[in-house]
Parts: sequence; C-alpha cells; structure tokens
Amino acid sequence: MRAPGGPRLLLRRLREVMAEPVTAQARLDRIVVLIASNMVAEVCSLYVARADGPLELFATEGLKREAVHVTTMKPGEGLVGLIASTAEPLALSDAQSHPAFSYKPETGEEIYQSFLGVPVLRGGATLGVLVVQNRARRTYSEEEVEALQTTAMLLAELIASGELQSIVKPGVDIALRRPIALKGAPIAEGLGLGHVVLHQPRVAVTKLVADDIPAEIERLDRAIAAMRASVDELIGRTEQSGDGEHRDVLEAYRMIAHDRGWLRRLNEAVMGGLTAEAAVERVMNDARARLQRQTDPYLRDRLHDLSDLANRLLHQLAGQSLTLDPSELPENAILVARSMGPAALLDYDRHRLRGLVLEEAGAASHVAIVARALSIPAVSEVANISEIAEQGDAIIVDGGSGEVQLRPPSDVEASYAEKARLRARRQEQYRQLRETPAVTRDGVAVALHMNAGLIVDLPHLDETGAEAIGLFRTELQFMLASRFPRLADQQQLYETVLDAAGDRPVTFRTLDIGGDKVLPYMKGPEEENPALGWRAIRIGLDKPALLRTQLRAMLRAGAGRNLRIMLPMVATVDEFIAARALLDRELVFNDRCGRSRPADVKLGVMVEVPSLLWQLDEIAERADFLSVGSNDLTQYFFAADRDNRRVAARFDPLSAGFLRALAAIAEAGRRAGKPVTLCGEIGGRALEAMTLVALGYRGLSMAATSIGPVKAMILSLDAGAAAEEIAKLLARSGDAASLREPLTALAERLGVRL
Ligand code: PEP
Ligand code: MG
Repeated sequence: MRAPGGPRLLLRRLREVMAEPVTAQARLDRIVVLIASNMVAEVCSLYVARADGPLELFATEGLKREAVHVTTMKPGEGLVGLIASTAEPLALSDAQSHPAFSYKPETGEEIYQSFLGVPVLRGGATLGVLVVQNRARRTYSEEEVEALQTTAMLLAELIASGELQSIVKPGVDIALRRPIALKGAPIAEGLGLGHVVLHQPRVAVTKLVADDIPAEIERLDRAIAAMRASVDELIGRTEQSGDGEHRDVLEAYRMIAHDRGWLRRLNEAVMGGLTAEAAVERVMNDARARLQRQTDPYLRDRLHDLSDLANRLLHQLAGQSLTLDPSELPENAILVARSMGPAALLDYDRHRLRGLVLEEAGAASHVAIVARALSIPAVSEVANISEIAEQGDAIIVDGGSGEVQLRPPSDVEASYAEKARLRARRQEQYRQLRETPAVTRDGVAVALHMNAGLIVDLPHLDETGAEAIGLFRTELQFMLASRFPRLADQQQLYETVLDAAGDRPVTFRTLDIGGDKVLPYMKGPEEENPALGWRAIRIGLDKPALLRTQLRAMLRAGAGRNLRIMLPMVATVDEFIAARALLDRELVFNDRCGRSRPADVKLGVMVEVPSLLWQLDEIAERADFLSVGSNDLTQYFFAADRDNRRVAARFDPLSAGFLRALAAIAEAGRRAGKPVTLCGEIGGRALEAMTLVALGYRGLSMAATSIGPVKAMILSLDAGAAAEEIAKLLARSGDAASLREPLTALAERLGVRL
C-alpha cells in the first residue's frame, strides 16, 4: 500500500505547519493528523523523551486525547521504550503478541493491531519516538518506514528548537537538555566552566524538503566526488610523511567513501524528497545512533569513520570549512572534538579558551602537551562527546579528576563554580608568593625551577617567579614539526628561550625521542618494546650528525652566555663520555667558524636509567650536574610502563626502595661537589617535594602550575626536623609498598602545608 501523495507531499505540508504561528501543542496536534492521514493510519502518536528518563505522549491522533501528557513509558518499557533504547525502527503486523508490548489502558490502543514506530534522532541521541498504528493486521513497506523516519527528522528539529519546553509540566525538561556526567582521562590540570564549541561544527540542516530532485541528486554527486578527492589528497599527504597509523584510518575512510551501500541509501533518501543535506543527515543520524550502542571497538571505529565522512559531505554541501575559524571562538569556550592536532589548538585564542574535551588523545600526545603548556584544563577518552554535545551547551571540565559535566544541573554547576572560586583564590595566594624566596622555616633554600618545551611556556617564568628553566624539552619542537627542524630553526628557538629567560639559567635537554615520543617523519625500525628501545641519547650517539646539529645550534644560540646542556637516558658512563666528545668537537668547530663561544658550557646528565645508580660516583665525577628524571626512573625502577594506566599507579615512588635510590643520588652529588636537581613530576607534588627536600634535594624543576603549591609547602617546612623523621621512617619501613600514609601523617604533625 502506498501513502496518498507520498512522502514528498507530506513533507511539504509539514513544512507549512512548521511555519504557522500557532502554539506548540496546536502545531503538534496538526502534525500527527497530517502524518496519520498521509500514511493511511488510524493512529499517529509522538512520544518525547524527558530529561528525567521516561518518554511522554505529547500528541496523538487516534488514541484517547486524555492520555496526552499523562501516558509515559520508561526507556526499554513497551514497544515505544524498546525503540527508544535500540534507536531502531520497529514494524509489526501483530503488535500485541510482541513480548515487549505493554498495555496502557488510558490510551485505548488495544484495538490497533499493526504498529510502526521510528526513533526521533538527533546528534546520536534519541529525542522521542514517532508511531503510527492500524486497526487491521498489515505489513508496513520499506518505503513507509523510510517516510516515517524522514518525518521524524523534521520533528527532531522541532524538539531541538526548544519550542516544546513550553508545553511540559513545570519542573520537567525534555531530554535534549538532559544533564550527562561523563568520565575521561585527565590530560591537563585545571577546572574550566563554559560552553561547548565544536571544533568541527555540525552543519545545521534547515532545508529538508527538495524543490528539484534531479538538481539535488546532482549536488549530492558533486559533493561525493569532492569528498572522495579530499580523502585521496589526505592519503597522498600522509604517504609522503610516512605516517603509518594515520594512513590506516584514511584507508578505512576511502573504503567507506566508495561503499555502495550508503551511497545507495543517500540517493534513495533524495529520491524520496529530501535535500542532499537532509539525506546525509539521515544517514549520519543512523550511524551515530548505532555508534552509541556499539561495544565492539572495531565496529565503533568504522561507524565513527562513517559519521566523520558524512560530516565532511555535509560541510562540502554547505560550502563551509570543516573546522571552526579560530577567530570566531566565543568567550568561555570549551572546545569539544573527536581528536585534534597541536597546531589546531595553538590557532585558537588562549584567552577565550576555558577547556578542552577530546575523545581520543593520550596523556603523552602532542595536543595534551600543548594543552598543559597553555594551562588549558583538558580531559580525553570521553566517549562520543563530539556527537552528544550541542553547540553552546553548558559544560564543565575537571582536568584533575577527568570528570566532564555536560548540561550540568544547577546544583552541580554551583558546586564546581565554588571549587573554581577556591582554586582561583589559591592561585591568587600563590601569585602573591611569586617574589618570596623558597626558604624553609629553618633557613634551607630550595631553588624552584620550571619545566618548559614550547615558546608558549615562557611567560610562565615571570608569572610563577621560577628561578630557572630546569628542563627544556627540545623534542617538542621536533614533534610538532612536519620535518626535521633545520639548524637555523633550532638555533632560533634556543635564542628565543634564552632571551626570555634573561639572567635565569636554562637547561636544554638534547633530543629525547623514541619510546612514546615519535617523530612522524623519522622512520625507525619497528620495535617490540619501544620504551626499552632505540631512543634519546642512543639515537644521538648512533646518528651523531643529528646530535651535533643540535649541539651546534645550542652553542650558537648561547654565544656569550651561560649554556647548560643535559643528556637524557644515559645508561653507562661511556655514553656520557662519547657525548662529551661530540660537544668538544662542536666547540672546536665553533671556534673554527670564527664564532664566539658561550661564556660557560656545563654538560649534565639525567639520572633516569637505574643502571646509573651503581655508577653514581663515576658519573658524578664526569658530569657537571645531575638531574633526576623521576618519571622514567620510576618506570624502569619498578618495570612499570608510565603510560599504561593499569600499572602506572601501581607502584609508589614514596616507597623505601625508591626513596633510598633518590637519597643515594643526592649523596653522590654532594660527595663529588656537583649540583643535583630533580625534574620529574614528583618534584611538583607537595608531599613528594617535602620528602625530596628532606632527602637533601636543593633544586626541583616542575610544571609551572606546581611552583606555587610547592613554594607554599616549603615556606611551612622545617627541613631539619623532616629529614630526621624521614631517615627514621626509612630505616624501619623497608617492607611497606608505600610510605605515603606515614609521610602524610608526618607532614600534618610538623604543620607542613600540603
Ligand atoms: C623524566 O623522565 O622524569 C623527565 C623529566 O623526562 P620526560 O618526562 O620528558 O621523559
Ligand atoms: Mg625522561
């Protein structure tokens, strides 16, 4: 049986009703009448999902009117609830024999035998369910299912417009505004409250009904061809850069871009009367809805790809660029994206950004590094956020806990706002400490240095009152570039850093690549175990041209100034000697070029491979200074991958074994008369920093945000008393996996501010 007038006529009529100046309820009432008559059904009902969970009957033609705004279905309850939870259409010739059928006497629906229901979808969320019913037993055709789905799209727009909010009972919200609490992996500290800005804005499809179908088919074909070309171009680009992983993703894109199935569905939707945009949105809605329910990671990825491609197609049709123009960023923006490159993040105005939420990005990813450098609270691994969030939604990002609150209820928002105020007050107190020297109550001075790696880090020097840059991670420049930075580029960066630091010393670390820090343009051998593989100083010594270029750039940038260089991942004294020889050769070369030398060059070593623990005196004799890389030292000490969430937190650096190692390093430095600092994450945590000072550390380098809290701790500390107590604790607590508890108790007893 075909509907009289077909879906095109229905869509046109519906469009007219949408434009009429009537109340929301009157509009809905007319819509259900129109749909029922067009589909030759005795019943048409619209259920709308409420924020508190159930689906409420909002309008009906055919069922008893008294049931409107009275009948509700819980998600999963009855056929309507089933459609809402599966997000899939359901057509039944004998509805009452379906196991999910749930009888609601107030509706009088027992006389209707056939049932067709479709979800009302938007952005992957089910906003409601649209149903038609017939008295007689009948089979709904595929076209009828399609027609009802198309109609549901129009209703999705109506619900999303917010108009229906005016006809719900007081205190009830429609689901579009449902608050959602999500949990991801924290990648950059801080707390941000603001509004969603989609890095890849969705195109709002306002024109759903086609005026000229052949013209729409042509537009669709053109857009598909352009989309395919853009994917091919992307693949071409990654081929040149040899980025294997990225390439696999794009190959999957290419396959989908040529997939007959969804191209057929797109064409059919246009033939049914939709504009090309509306047809794409239909297909995208289906993909998103399936995505939300899919647990198989492979299929999830493919559905994601499909959704991404459909999005590209929509932008192509609308003639809009795929990503937001950075200059259009509103105030208090919280960027939401599936993934994002570091350069894209840097393009946005930092002062308008309050946070970042991503679906994919590891803590060691480049975008995470940039987010931390810019002090933008960021959380990753938040499933489907780019599909669920709507432009302008209120959102809160807690980069400490990994919590993300989308459309938070007012009490949740208030408690976060209070937390943010407290934080701001504390930050203000820390700012006031900026000029205060970090000296303990018993007069021990501890130099607080800052870790950096990007130009955007440099203003933090003044803001925090850091005495030096204790670790400049030079690999970040390499990681963000698309090819090896040339000598001149490297030199320029180092000059900029030295200029910004002025009198404050800067310790440049030579390239620490390999392991998790991969350069897309540098092909290395596949490694089974990259953390234990060819990395850092090992690469530098095997490819001396690379290390010498870097040393040359440092010597040139440091002409006439004090230069400090530090070598990462040194495992034997031999390696240090070999690197020192390269530096000496570069100094000679520098002279031969007639260039002036740095006023002083110090070459230090990072202690981050446990083998050095048994060569401490030898290495301390050779190196000008020692700096403990506690991130890697703990990783290798406990044989626990620092980026593997399962094991990273399993072992506590505040354990007797590790603290004894740290004490031994500090003592070796003292014996040899060489300065010892620490530049891993633990230096920036108050309790750990207290312990380090007690163990004899007089210099700590940390993230800019940690300087204030650590300084506050130091000002409250009696270092002598802490040293005495901790020595006692270490002597008797060798069995404990962690000394965190007794150390916390000690801090409390000594009145240390943590
Ligand atoms: C460390 O390992 O502690 C360190 C400071 O270096 P990175 O975190 O860059 O490896
Ligand atoms: Mg390291």
